[in-house]
Amino acid sequence: MGVKVTQSSLKCITSHNKTHTFHLFLLQFQPLYQTSPQLFVSRMVMKVAVIGAGISGLTSIKACLDEGLEPTCFESSHDIGGLWRLKEKPEPGRTNIYQSVVINSSKEIMAFSDFPPPAELPNNMHHSEVLQYMRLYAQAFKLLQHIQLQTAVVSVRQTLDYASTGQWEVETESKDGQRETRVFDAVIVCTGHFTHPHMPLKDFPGIESFEGRYFHSWHYRNSEGLQGKRVVVVGIGNSGGDIAVEISRVAEKVYLSSRSGAWVVSRVGQGGIPADLIGTSRMNLFMERLLPSWSNMMLEKKLNKAFDHKLYGLKPKHGFFAQMPLVNDDLPNRIISGRVQMKPNVKEFCGSSVVFVDGSVIDKVDVVVFATGYNYSFPFLPAALQAKCGYRLRLYKHVFPPALTKPTLAVVGFIRGFGAVNPLAEMQARWATRVFKGLATLPSEETMIKELEKDTVIMHQRFACTELNPIQVDYIPYLDSLAEEVGVRPNIPWLLLTDPRLALQLLTGPCTPYQYRLTGPGKWAGAREAILTQWERVLQPFRTRVVPEPESRPLSRRGIIVMVSGAALLCCFCYNKHLQGSLLSLQSFFRSLQ
Ligand SMILES: Cc1cc2nc3c(=O)[nH]c(=O)nc-3n(C[C@H](O)[C@H](O)[C@H](O)COP(=O)(O)OP(=O)(O)OC[C@H]3O[C@@H](n4cnc5c(N)ncnc54)[C@H](O)[C@@H]3O)c2cc1C
Repeated sequence: MGVKVTQSSLKCITSHNKTHTFHLFLLQFQPLYQTSPQLFVSRMVMKVAVIGAGISGLTSIKACLDEGLEPTCFESSHDIGGLWRLKEKPEPGRTNIYQSVVINSSKEIMAFSDFPPPAELPNNMHHSEVLQYMRLYAQAFKLLQHIQLQTAVVSVRQTLDYASTGQWEVETESKDGQRETRVFDAVIVCTGHFTHPHMPLKDFPGIESFEGRYFHSWHYRNSEGLQGKRVVVVGIGNSGGDIAVEISRVAEKVYLSSRSGAWVVSRVGQGGIPADLIGTSRMNLFMERLLPSWSNMMLEKKLNKAFDHKLYGLKPKHGFFAQMPLVNDDLPNRIISGRVQMKPNVKEFCGSSVVFVDGSVIDKVDVVVFATGYNYSFPFLPAALQAKCGYRLRLYKHVFPPALTKPTLAVVGFIRGFGAVNPLAEMQARWATRVFKGLATLPSEETMIKELEKDTVIMHQRFACTELNPIQVDYIPYLDSLAEEVGVRPNIPWLLLTDPRLALQLLTGPCTPYQYRLTGPGKWAGAREAILTQWERVLQPFRTRVVPEPESRPLSRRGIIVMVSGAALLCCFCYNKHLQGSLLSLQSFFRSLQ
């Protein structure tokens, strides 16, 4: 069924609660609309298919509504939440987490830009609290009514008249196997990228005859059944680190094997506040840009001060900023207590023994956990849209396939950076919907290809990209560049003149997403307040016990003697200095007279 946009559906949209942007749009195009409403209507993108209802999908639905578009979100599972919904059993084709997962990025960094997380939620939320926050977001902006659960998208194809309409046929399959094809004016793909476990078994000779049990971290739920076992965890990504630590609490011993090593950062930063609130700031970015080697060195020095990465067998070849660090507060503890032992890459398996590349052998291994990452795939998309540039997908600014003659398909959330996914996905969705509507334009295909190729070269130079880690962006610069396209980049020099308190927060404080709601399309009146109160929300969850002030006690006689003697000594010292200074001035005065 083709989608024809009529004037009555236009009226329907203008009655939507977020009409202000749409009114602005109408005003902008008023002359065109008055002379040729038909032309206007046929140019407008109206119905948008959003695939997936995780963080990226929810924020994409909201971006559509904010722009007066009509989203229909297809979610293959029975609930929203994506990765953050703990599944009873691992569900093939979906992301899966273990029971103990807490977020690496703190809540203010991982916030949606116009929906600060409740103050009482902990800073590094448990996965159930992330899901709770997502549900609150979905309720607040009435997103649920746009989601069709238990409906998987099986194919997305251009319509026959795509060249003129830019439309897509989206084929879905419901839980009971019913297939349906609908036409949409645009599509946003939000299906995540931790879905297909990567098990490089061919790199591990002898695994086929290994006498123990082995599985991918995707299957891991908790340490049940691993009591007293000898376990090898292969891979030191965030999952590998978490799983090794958790199993080490019950196992006889855990061996954590890593080819590359990793920089380990704690969630708990200086003074106990979340470390990423200190690390993700414009001031830090400025220093990193101005003195990259120095910044890198200082950071590594600081990390080694907590514990020497070389001594602990963790030191990687790459510099700190080249790859996402391992966020783990417990690993050094488990290593120092001998519960986790660091090992190099596995060379081969032999019966129940594991041989490492340094020649060392661990015998009687019961279980091997392959925390070896994920492959991405978009099986429902046309093959041409899955072309690669280096390891990454060929997407302009990681969102738009440049080869499309009509920019009506966008990928949202397929991105990583030193920050959190919510602000990245949200900004991508805001940009995509503006492009769909024609309020933001893309450069020519040639320019986009040139830019993305240049971008890929820079990315490969700066970051340790691989098949499994295909994308990494500079967090704040990437957000700023998309914000520029949307017209919401904060003007800090101007704010320094007009609102210095706010400007200082933007410069020296954490780069929280509210700053992209201060101005421009989608401006939110609460953004300034959200920035100025963010530290309150950070401190609130710690206030669970009133800490008594130390009682003021009368000074003992001994105390009084110590204080008086101290004061006398200080006076002597100052007088002496003063006398010396005066003598020196007198000397120089007399010299000048000679
Ligand atoms: C252990 C772990 C910890 C992490 N911690 C953090 C963190 O602290 N901070 C952070 O920012 N990021 C973290 N991440 C990254 C994480 O991927 C993102 O936070 C986020 O979940 C990505 O959301 P998404 O919506 O893009 O994808 P997902 O959450 O994977 O959601 C995709 C949705 O699409 C649906 N879907 C898939 N295919 C189809 C189809 N064909 N049809 C219909 N529906 C479909 C799925 O069912 C799913 O609901 C972590 C990842 C892992 C694995």
